[in-house]
Amino acid sequence: MDDVKERFSFIPDRIAGLGELSYNLWWSWHPAARMLFKMLDRQIWKECRHNPVKMLRELPHEVLETAAGDPEYLRHYDAVLARFHKEMNAKGGWFSENIADPECLPIAYFSAEYGLHHSLPFYAGGLGFLAGDHIKECSDLGVPLVAVGFMYPEGYLRQKIRSDGWQENVDEVLDRDAAPISRVLNEKGEQLVVKVPFIEPPIHVAVWKVQVGRIPLYLMDTDIEINDPWNRGISAHLYIGDIEQRLRQEIVLGIGGSEVLDTLGIKHSVLHLNEGHPAFAILERVRERVEEGISYNEAVQHVHSTTVFTTHTPVPAGHDVFPFHLMDKYFGHYYPILGLNRDEFLRMGIQSGDPDAGFNMTAFALRMSAYHNGVSKRHGEVSRRMWQSLWPDTKEEDIPIDSVTNGIHVPTWIEPKMQLLFNKYSGPDWLEDHDNPAIWELIDDIPDKELWQTHYWLKMKLINFIHDRARQRWVENRISPTNIVAGGTLLDPSALTIGFARRFATYKRADLIFHNMERLKKLLNNRWRPLQIIFAGKAHPADDPGKRILQRIFNSAHDPALGGRIAFVEDYDEQLAQYMTHGVDVWLNNPIPPLEACGTSGMKASLNSVPHLSILDGWWIEGFNGKNGWAFSGKGNDEEDAEAIYELMEKEIIPLFYKVDDDGIPHGWVKVMKEAIKSTAPLFSARRMVKEYARKFYQNALKSAGA
Ligand SMILES: *Cc1c(COP(=O)(O)O)cnc(C)c1O
Repeated sequence: MDDVKERFSFIPDRIAGLGELSYNLWWSWHPAARMLFKMLDRQIWKECRHNPVKMLRELPHEVLETAAGDPEYLRHYDAVLARFHKEMNAKGGWFSENIADPECLPIAYFSAEYGLHHSLPFYAGGLGFLAGDHIKECSDLGVPLVAVGFMYPEGYLRQKIRSDGWQENVDEVLDRDAAPISRVLNEKGEQLVVKVPFIEPPIHVAVWKVQVGRIPLYLMDTDIEINDPWNRGISAHLYIGDIEQRLRQEIVLGIGGSEVLDTLGIKHSVLHLNEGHPAFAILERVRERVEEGISYNEAVQHVHSTTVFTTHTPVPAGHDVFPFHLMDKYFGHYYPILGLNRDEFLRMGIQSGDPDAGFNMTAFALRMSAYHNGVSKRHGEVSRRMWQSLWPDTKEEDIPIDSVTNGIHVPTWIEPKMQLLFNKYSGPDWLEDHDNPAIWELIDDIPDKELWQTHYWLKMKLINFIHDRARQRWVENRISPTNIVAGGTLLDPSALTIGFARRFATYKRADLIFHNMERLKKLLNNRWRPLQIIFAGKAHPADDPGKRILQRIFNSAHDPALGGRIAFVEDYDEQLAQYMTHGVDVWLNNPIPPLEACGTSGMKASLNSVPHLSILDGWWIEGFNGKNGWAFSGKGNDEEDAEAIYELMEKEIIPLFYKVDDDGIPHGWVKVMKEAIKSTAPLFSARRMVKEYARKFYQNALKSAGA
């Protein structure tokens, strides 16, 4: 990466590797590598929000000079860099031993969003983190993969809550030069710009790269001068509301993304589509084969046998459907290239039960892929029912939609202090073998006191973080003291603390616990055994019902009758998700079933010893074992579901939390914490998940590809 060397020419030679390291997100899931930056200057590291590229640019040069002459720093530097280079150049690994020769042509992974780190805000929620965790794990396991997506330079909506509780969004434009992304250069040394084929007037994309361990992620940016204004905005935000612009966005993602790989000379063997948004990539694979001279049917057969498609949502509005007149407008000239007439083409995307609805991206992707799955067992069932009409002669249980339950990238989501504790009692190799349930039995060896103290420390860290943010808002924006209270200044580290943080989609029912206000008040205001709840999350800018739910919670947060025991923390992002899933006592989840396809934040909490209290939906149907948290089976009726939560709170959760033994430790509670770690960490890891994708789908698809 010459671009990087040039940008960091001021770094002393002895520690020049910091430049390369800062551009590889490998640092983000290796605490020793993060420490290498933090050691340079803790305050600047914090102010740069843990973004090493920004930090290296802003650091006084003397600091780097000093570090380059400091034996202690150099010792640490050499150790981290040696490990980094060893892992980047490693050839073997799980994939080569179990699946296929890693020298085969890579798997191309397409996703509309990626959640990797808070310095790269290219995500809206769970789908993005799933994609990010997937590619990090592919790097760890040595899966040959190349990823494609968008950069969304204005994608980050900084959330500010007005004094009346209404969410406002302040657009924040990404400073491309201060983010850990680099320009992909052409042979002339200029940034590579690719023209999206088959669309007139033309659309161009500038190509950027994020290195995620061993996996390259190519990002497209349409905000460049050569594009007209209408086209510049295509990749400005995630999921544009206007249907035509959305179609253009998905054409750029699928067809433009394929062209980017082609231009870079990257051939791929297998295509994995994360959700239907990038499904037009399938068309390009078919077209290439037809142009090589084989028949359309043969081309489809080949593409079909080498395509994996993961569907992520049972919410009907989550599946894009484009009207036929727009399909004609943008694909009219594409039909004959494939040797198809209009009807034959459009038929690929119709829903059998409702053929006039339009071109459905999920139906299209399901028809054109041999391997497809939902993201939990329950979501597999729901998807088989939902898409049964595509296989009219097949019984529901035989519909060929499989399931691979989501998992989280353990090195990313484990809190470093918790990791040290696990190292101490499970041996330093636990991380290497973390999808093996047997390893986790050793969690029982952790003395209750040590786990409890570590957890308490993380709770303090969360509350301090929230106080810090509130102080900043107070000083910078001079908002009213009531709103500062709503932001969490009265939080009390000794009170039982529930966390609820996720996108404020209405089906997630963030305000369910307010259903019976009197009953909730009693729990919050109990003098001896108080409860407090920390909320965070963003409503989609166009989602007024979601914003009303948020407003209701925010207004409760500054209602003195609730005693300052409700907090709403603004601007939920990856960093706040880390603090919250590590630091609360219980993680709450109460969507309307079966609309939570899987859910992953509860996994992040459980891994860090925070038990899950959830309705039986998504992953919790598989995850709950009676001892590792709490569950209730609801039907989506607010009255009954809220009742179930109060019951569990009053009868089980609150008494258990406050049952402290003579040594000051709630041993009964700690037992649940340990069980949460043990039972969920191996099974709901991205390691188990990627291995399952590889064994169920990638291996066979690679064989079909002749790899
Ligand atoms: C994990 C995560 C999500 C997904 O959480 P769900 O429980 O699946 O809704 C969303 N946003 C952020 C910032 C996350 O870290």
